[in-house]
Amino acid sequence: MAAAIGPDKIVLNAQVAEIDQSGDRVRVSTADGKQFEGDAIVSTIPFSVMDEIAVKPGWSAGKARMFAEMEWDKTVKIIVKTKSPSWLAQTVRGWPMAGGDRPWERFIDITGNEPGGHGSGFFYLNGDNADAVLALPRAERGPRIVSQFEKDAPGLLGEVVSVSDFAWSEQPWIKGSFGGPPIGGGWMIREWTQPEGRIHFAGDFTTLKTGWVEGAIESGLRAARQIDPSAEQLSGGR
Ligand SMILES: Cc1cc2nc3c(=O)[nH]c(=O)nc-3n(C[C@H](O)[C@H](O)[C@H](O)COP(=O)(O)OP(=O)(O)OC[C@H]3O[C@@H](n4cnc5c(N)ncnc54)[C@H](O)[C@@H]3O)c2cc1C
Repeated sequence: MAAAIGPDKIVLNAQVAEIDQSGDRVRVSTADGKQFEGDAIVSTIPFSVMDEIAVKPGWSAGKARMFAEMEWDKTVKIIVKTKSPSWLAQTVRGWPMAGGDRPWERFIDITGNEPGGHGSGFFYLNGDNADAVLALPRAERGPRIVSQFEKDAPGLLGEVVSVSDFAWSEQPWIKGSFGGPPIGGGWMIREWTQPEGRIHFAGDFTTLKTGWVEGAIESGLRAARQIDPSAEQLSGGR
């Protein structure tokens, strides 16, 4: 995409601090003092951190309610690298390759075509299991889950080389995982589809394909066509 539109037009590490559409054009200001102006903008900023951005004029009642009521979870991944994918050698496969009502919840094999001969996978924790691990000191999280798994499935992981963790609720750029409307939140579908003045919304949390990158792509196409209904895909097809 960068090659198609020009790499010089992509600006990284520019945190949006303000969106001002009170004038003729939309002005976006970043925390480090850059300013951009346009006829319209597509925002993919997660609704979970939208309250950190100053907006002029302020959000409509519907948008403000949607940003406040959208639900976000606290998914934690415990990522494990092993000396070899010993579970595959034991013909244990599948997505997930192990799952149950245990604190380790699910183990997903992501070894794929890893060239070093190592095994790779992650434990995928949500709800009470995520809460329990988040309450631990950081250094204890991975080792605790790995030792719980090894008690239930001795020898399946083989020799563990490294363990790390990634908690969506601890990432300042999103502060949560899996945005979705609450029960009774069907009204949000129309709300996220409607632009706010010249601000158009995209992101997987603005689709019913939440939690999958297809949702992000679908929403990007929707926003692009709101701005230019005759927009063509880069391949030239529609
Ligand atoms: C635990 C988990 C597992 C997943 N597994 C899969 C999977 O197996 N397959 C799959 O297809 N999808 C998966 N997904 C979903 C996939 O990650 C999302 O669909 C995709 O990342 C959404 O893309 P996006 O561009 O909408 O949002 P994001 O990727 O969340 O991007 C939002 C961007 O906004 C930026 N941002 C935030 N605030 C500001 C600001 N003020 N200024 C500028 N930028 C800002 C953030 O830095 C971030 O880069 C998973 C998601 C989670 C949480």
